[in-house]
Amino acid sequence: MSQLLDGKTLAEGILQDVQQQAKHLIRHRLQPHLAVLVATNDEAARYYVRLIQKTATKVGVKVDIVDMPASSTQTHLAQQLSELAEDTQVHGIILQTPLPAAVNADELRSLIPPAKDVDGANPLSAGRLVSGLEAFSPATPEAIMEILEYYKIPISGQHAVVIGRSRVVGKPLAHLLLAKDATVTICHSRSTTVKSLASQADILIAAAGRPGLVTGDFVKEGATVVDVGTTVDTNGRLQGDVEATSVSQKAGGLTPVPGGVGPVTTATVLKHTIEAASTSLKGTS
Ligand code: NAD
Repeated sequence: MSQLLDGKTLAEGILQDVQQQAKHLIRHRLQPHLAVLVATNDEAARYYVRLIQKTATKVGVKVDIVDMPASSTQTHLAQQLSELAEDTQVHGIILQTPLPAAVNADELRSLIPPAKDVDGANPLSAGRLVSGLEAFSPATPEAIMEILEYYKIPISGQHAVVIGRSRVVGKPLAHLLLAKDATVTICHSRSTTVKSLASQADILIAAAGRPGLVTGDFVKEGATVVDVGTTVDTNGRLQGDVEATSVSQKAGGLTPVPGGVGPVTTATVLKHTIEAASTSLKGTS
């Protein structure tokens, strides 16, 4: 049986640090503050945002959910983002997806100043990440790297196969793995040999949003498998992309769903908010 790569313990450690630093900032009359702009009725997205708020409140970070109608126009969302960008009391901004279908998402993301872009959404942040320059990385890929590091999984020289090429998970993760000297293969919905590529991986990351996609025959004996998938099934339960029973027979380590990448992602967003708030404090001293 594979080792359970639990994310909850790691997340608790990150949150303890966040709490310490939030206390320090509050002593300096600075309340770390994250604004999350939501313009969707998507239940999973709304649940995720409430979870961030609940976790943040426990560790001294203020989270405002800026609730906009799912029918919001580009102009309304842009105006709201510009106000948050200028608000010196707000240190981090997240533009929650999904967004209304008619808006230009990249134009909106570009309105988040890089210094407040705690989920690495602005194309500028993405470009800086690819260039190896300082920037906030999207929280989920950073959380995956934290998990690999925490469990001392070798990365340098290892073959990492990432299933999924989205801007929030697959692509930035591939760059973070490259920066740690992994050999990286990215698979996506048009890839024709996903199983064969996956079965060559030392580190296999499943981020397709397809429950049960990765079965035991996708996995090399002893490989580390990270399950990013979080699909809400008809019973309201979270399903990963990995079929845990067959995969755990072969993998050396496997992250659970729930309790793997998710809690570390939330903790990472709050860590970034503290970093953004600390930078703004330095700017005023
Ligand atoms: P997305 O839909 O934007 O991207 C999915 C990617 O998977 C695409 O690049 C697509 O080409 C690829 N894909 C789809 N089917 C495939 C298949 N059969 N074979 C190979 N590739 C395939 O999704 P996303 O935003 O990247 O999220 C992926 C999953 O991760 C979702 O389940 C999402 O809910 C979850 N997620 C979890 C967290 C977390 O904190 N745990 C955070 C973000 C996303």
